Amino acid sequence: MKKVILVGLLLSVLSTSLAQNNMKGNNNFAIVLHGGAGTILKQNMTPELEKQYMDKMNEALQKGYDTLSKGGKSNDAVVVAIMVLEDSPLFNAGKGSVFTADGKNEMDASIMDGKTLKSGAVAGVRKIKNPITAAKCVLEKSEHVMMVGTGAEKFAKKCKCEMADSSYFFEEKRFIQLQKIKESEKTELDHGSSKPIDVEFNDKKFGTVGVVALDKEGNLAAGTSTGGMTNKKYGRVGDAPIIGAGTYANNKTCGVSCTGHGEYFIRAVVAYDVSALMEYKGYSVEKAANEVINEKLKKMGGEGGLIAMDAKGNITMPFNTPGMYRAFKKSDGTSGNFIYK
Ligand code: ASP
Repeated sequence: MKKVILVGLLLSVLSTSLAQNNMKGNNNFAIVLHGGAGTILKQNMTPELEKQYMDKMNEALQKGYDTLSKGGKSNDAVVVAIMVLEDSPLFNAGKGSVFTADGKNEMDASIMDGKTLKSGAVAGVRKIKNPITAAKCVLEKSEHVMMVGTGAEKFAKKCKCEMADSSYFFEEKRFIQLQKIKESEKTELDHGSSKPIDVEFNDKKFGTVGVVALDKEGNLAAGTSTGGMTNKKYGRVGDAPIIGAGTYANNKTCGVSCTGHGEYFIRAVVAYDVSALMEYKGYSVEKAANEVINEKLKKMGGEGGLIAMDAKGNITMPFNTPGMYRAFKKSDGTSGNFIYK
């Protein structure tokens, strides 16, 4: 009788540890990214521009994927992939950041480690070439989670992050976008419009970037980087650097990076809500993300989307706008990149 109990006990210990092994460190890895959501319509796109976006997304994806395939950590993969997108003028992050009402570029970025729940974020920075590197430094080398403005820049310098002056971030296309929005505000004022002085979100946003990665150890990480919204005023900060709103990662549930009208994403605590639905309601990553983007956020009037991946590498990329730049690549050989619905 004792023997039977002992064997039963051994078998149950063995199967539990096998199940855990299956989840953790099973050598599967994956990466997913977005380059912003909005009114991205095929009729407004040229084949050349479409190719440029696809190529840049693939380049970023591949950089992150290579890091993971060499056994690198998920948060390193997130940083290298985001840096490629930050260095491209195509996306609203780093080099391609949109302009504030004062004609400046003020960037936000954050990163979270799903194993330790450690997080790092910077907001309203003007002189850091790759804000995601500063966010990672906050995570790794400080006792804080979020730093803003000149303080964050001082810390980034200490971390040896590459700095850049305002001329590096000047992109004429973005500057024209600012002038157009200012014009439309003025017209509304002149004609005594009863509408609040605010143009649509889609006129203001152009391609925030975000990455979620799962490494061979089974650890998730998520990061987001943005120039925010064109014509933003008074030191406005969006959801991208706010842990739980624009970015979240937890090995227990998923990694999430968001893009959209930040004010709504902050109010709806979008990234954490996806994780919470999985944790407390047992939802799959797909069901949870879909409910948040296409039900909850939509009801509030919030436009945008997100990328999310669970600890097994299941990926979902819902959005409630006409398009979202997005791409993924997994160690099981599957991959894809998309722009439209
Ligand atoms: N979420 C960003 C912000 O509100 C903008 C975007 O994703 O396009 O700052």
